[in-house]
Amino acid sequence: MNKGNKLYEGKAKIIYETKDKDLVIQHFKDDATAFNNLKKAKVEGKGVLNNRISEYILSNLSQCGIQTHLVKRLNMREQLIKKAEIFPIEFIVRNIATGSLTKRLGIPEGTILDKPLLEYCYKKDELNDPLVSKEHIFTFGWATEKEIQTIDKMTFRINDILIGMFRAIGIKLVDFKIEYGKTWNKDTKKKEIVLADEISPDTCRLWDAKTEKKLDKDRFRKDLGNIIQAYQDVARRLGIMPEETNISEVNFGKTIPIKFKKK
Ligand code: 5GP
Repeated sequence: MNKGNKLYEGKAKIIYETKDKDLVIQHFKDDATAFNNLKKAKVEGKGVLNNRISEYILSNLSQCGIQTHLVKRLNMREQLIKKAEIFPIEFIVRNIATGSLTKRLGIPEGTILDKPLLEYCYKKDELNDPLVSKEHIFTFGWATEKEIQTIDKMTFRINDILIGMFRAIGIKLVDFKIEYGKTWNKDTKKKEIVLADEISPDTCRLWDAKTEKKLDKDRFRKDLGNIIQAYQDVARRLGIMPEETNISEVNFGKTIPIKFKKK
């Protein structure tokens, strides 16, 4: 699938058009940003790992009946995805209190929530992605009541599946952010809601179940170091990266492939 013009460049990804108007290419960059772009760095190999981890997670969700934008992974850094009209909302699910929840409401760090908490944030960098209510979403027409009903249901189901997936490999799913879009279904001739964007250590908080070591982007946000090693650890535990491969030995500028396990 040949890459066409760049359609959009975000903080961690670039979207390119393809010859098919319903499909685009999602390219994962090595750029890491935090605090609404105030902190920036290149983390060599991050894009490759997120591409592979997100492909693995979205494929598994798809097998569980969750519709996603993913068509297939094309190479180390790119995926073919369905073109989607993205809802301007970040859907955040929390199982354990940390991050902005503890700051905003003074909930003690590490509090296990009785049931998953779903929060909505308006996707607007200039405003720091503010927390909004369903009423804001409906009033400003960012999504309809019916769409939010469908998305809420999908989101809690995704949380259930992901908690299980990570628990099986000794990781606690603390919280995560997902996005949704609407795509055109050629067969049903209707628009349908799909899970979009990515699910990776960039968008989740993942703690080792025993030690509570952070295996996610908080290593970058909080200057904890060993970011790639942590992402690599997640990929290894998911069984998509062989034990012996060390990403620091791989030259990403050239075409030396990381030995990912076959599906
Ligand atoms: P918090 O609101 O505590 O900062 O983040 C909650 C969860 O959502 C974390 O897993 C965090 O990684 C994710 N998250 C929230 N906003 C963003 C964002 O703009 N980009 C990314 N990559 N993750 C986000």
